[in-house]
Amino acid sequence: MKKNSLTIADWGEFGFIEALKQRLPKASGDLKLGLGDDAAWWSPAPGNGILTTTDMLVEGVHFDLSYTSAVDLGYKSLVVNLSDLAAMGAQPSTVYLSLALPAGIEKAWLESYIDGFLKLAQAHGVQLAGGDTVKADQLVISVTLCGLAGAAKPVLRSGAAVGDDIYFSGSLGDSYLGLQLLSGRMRDADDFGDFNESAAFLQTRHLRPTPRIELGVKLAASGGVTAMLDVSDGVIADLGHLLTASGGLGAELEVSCLPFSVAGRHFIDADLVDYVTLLSGGEDYELLFTAPPERRAKIKTIAAETVVNLTRIGRITASAGIFMLVDGSRKVVGGRGGYDHFQDQSS
Ligand code: ADP
Ligand code: MG
Repeated sequence: MKKNSLTIADWGEFGFIEALKQRLPKASGDLKLGLGDDAAWWSPAPGNGILTTTDMLVEGVHFDLSYTSAVDLGYKSLVVNLSDLAAMGAQPSTVYLSLALPAGIEKAWLESYIDGFLKLAQAHGVQLAGGDTVKADQLVISVTLCGLAGAAKPVLRSGAAVGDDIYFSGSLGDSYLGLQLLSGRMRDADDFGDFNESAAFLQTRHLRPTPRIELGVKLAASGGVTAMLDVSDGVIADLGHLLTASGGLGAELEVSCLPFSVAGRHFIDADLVDYVTLLSGGEDYELLFTAPPERRAKIKTIAAETVVNLTRIGRITASAGIFMLVDGSRKVVGGRGGYDHFQDQSS
C-alpha cells in the first residue's frame, strides 16, 4: 500500500458505515428500515414484520478463550443477537450460524460450543436453519437471527420525545466488572474474601447475560414505548445513539437512581470502580427505553409480569448532551462516544 495513504482508521467504524449508508437509497418498498437500528425491518405482507440482525465475534477482539469456555461462547454468540431482537420488540424464530475455524480446533470443543448455542436456541424456540463453515487462522463466528415483530410496528431508536422518562432493565455495569475480574485487569476474585459471591455473580453476568425477549415484546405491544435499544456499547454510548437517532435530543440521568446490583455496589463502596466507568462499560445487554410519564403505571405492571426490575433513571431534554444529576447539581458526562473497532485500542 502507498505510504501515507488513508486507512479505515481515518474513517473509523462509524464513518465507514455512514459512508456506506450515503451510497444507499432510502429503505423503500418491503424494506421498512435498513441500516442504523438494532435490526432491519422487512415487511413482505401487511402485519408480517420480519426483523433481522447479524453480528460477528472475532477471537482476541470479542472474546478470549483463556477465560471463556466453549459452552459459554456458544451461549454468548446467540445471546447478543437475541438481545438486538428484544430491543425491537421482536420474537426470535430462525438463526444462521457461520464459523471460520482454525484447522486444529478440537472436536470436543466444538461439541460443547454447539451445546451452548443450541440449548439457548431451544429455550427461546429458535431453530437453526443454516450457515457456513470455513477454515481460517483465527476463530470467527457470525450469527444472523430473524424474528417476527411482536406488535404492528417494532420499537425504533428514533422515537424519543422531550419529557419522556428513560428506563433501564435489570442492573447496570455488572458485565464490565465481570470482564475486569475474568481478564485479571482487576484483582483476582480470590482476593476479595467476602466479595467472592459477588465476583462469581458479576462474571456470570458477563458470560451469560439474560436475553430480555419477553420484556421487549411486552413493551412493544403496550404501545407506549417511544424508543428502545439494547445496551452493548455502554449506557452513555448507547443512550447517545438513541438521542442522535431521535433528532439530537439530550438527557438528564439521576445518579442516585442508577440500578447497580448488590455485587456492583460492593465494588463502588470499596472504591474499586466509579459510577461513570460503569455507565461507560459495555455488554450489559439490558434494554434502555423511553416512555412518556403517563405510562408509568403500565410499565410497573410489565415489570411485575416479566419479573424484571425496570428503573426510571432520568428524562429526555431538548438541549443536546448527557448530564448527571448528583445531589441536585448538574454535571456533564465526558463518557466515550462508543467503541470504534478501528479507532479504539481495547474493547
Ligand atoms: P449493533 O451494535 O446493534 O450490532 P452496529 O453498531 O454493529 O450495531 O451497526 C450499526 C448499523 O450498521 C447496523 O444497522 C448494521 O446492520 C449496519 N452495518 C454495520 N456494518 C455493515 C456493513 N458492512 N454492511 C452493511 N451494514 C452494516
Ligand atoms: Mg444492538
